[in-house]
Amino acid sequence: PFEVLVVGGGPAGAATAIYTARKGFRTGIAAERFGGQLHDTLGIENLPGTPYTEGPKLAGEIKRHVSDYDIDLMDLAKAVKLVPATEKGGLHTVELGNGASLQARSLILATGARWRNLGVPGEAEYRNKGVAYCPHCDGPLFKGKRIAVIGGGNSGVEAAIDLAKIVGHVTLIEYDVKLRADEVLQAKLRSLPNVEIVTSGQTTEITGKDGKVDGLVVKDRQSGTERRIALEGVFVQIGLVPNTEWLQGSGLELSPHGEIVTDEEGRTNLAGIFGAGDVTDVPYKQIVVAMGEGSKAGLSAFDYLIRTEPA
Ligand code: FAD
Repeated sequence: PFEVLVVGGGPAGAATAIYTARKGFRTGIAAERFGGQLHDTLGIENLPGTPYTEGPKLAGEIKRHVSDYDIDLMDLAKAVKLVPATEKGGLHTVELGNGASLQARSLILATGARWRNLGVPGEAEYRNKGVAYCPHCDGPLFKGKRIAVIGGGNSGVEAAIDLAKIVGHVTLIEYDVKLRADEVLQAKLRSLPNVEIVTSGQTTEITGKDGKVDGLVVKDRQSGTERRIALEGVFVQIGLVPNTEWLQGSGLELSPHGEIVTDEEGRTNLAGIFGAGDVTDVPYKQIVVAMGEGSKAGLSAFDYLIRTEPA
């Protein structure tokens, strides 16, 4: 068995493993796809010390860094079930999709999250070519341009307020008859001169030309009429889904959004099991945050292991 088993190989899981391996613990990583969301990211410009890099390049460098240590990296290993230890200091079990199971005294769960997609024609085709999901990451790419934000919940309205400072014009499109964001955010949004709000709007297509987004089609759900809006960017803000389906029924506490509930040291409600990165209820889903939370969880696991006798 491992002393530390990390489930997930994104920035959070990799940071954890580096920390625990450096403490001399026998560490393993089981990841469905090592690198995680970095593989879907083009330019990264907000990782301090690295003015510009690209997701797949950073993933490769993280992999090299991990392989400098005695870490057992199991890629293409999907966890399907968690069976927590039944006694203090006991072994936790993670069952994999291929039928194997792994055991460890401490677990760090870092299975990340995924942006909910609109699922309309053009979305996948123009991803990173005008279709974006992260305003903190990609906002500056649209300086002075016309964009749309899809989704009128808190994240959509916050994104629209944020982006309105950078871009030329924002059209916020909400499917429902009214926005669902907090009233204070809605009031702020309505006060901005370069924002148009469309309610009862169903985005039916994202269009493009020469490999880049050039507009979208929105249908008025009341009248059924369609209109085309010319623009250069579309931010999809209809939810971030944590990858916790495999944890259902394990006894691990999840938030109403399905995120792993952690305390300020990354501890979950189960002794010896920690969470880190986008999969947890820690706010702000960013690489630097995930790496920080991952290192924190690794240090918490260290603390747990040196204070807890094996059962
Ligand atoms: P993830 O990167 O999601 O990694 C999760 C890991 O868990 C993966 O290895 C995955 O395969 C694995 N996994 C999932 N389920 C299982 C399972 N059941 N069993 C085993 N393994 C599993 N952030 C920035 O700071 N700057 C940016 O410029 C930026 N741009 C972005 C652009 C895009 C298009 C996207 C999608 C995200 C962007 N982000 C950016 C956000 C950033 O990528 C995430 O915050 C970060 O990757 C989170 O790291 P993580 O390790 O928590 O999770």
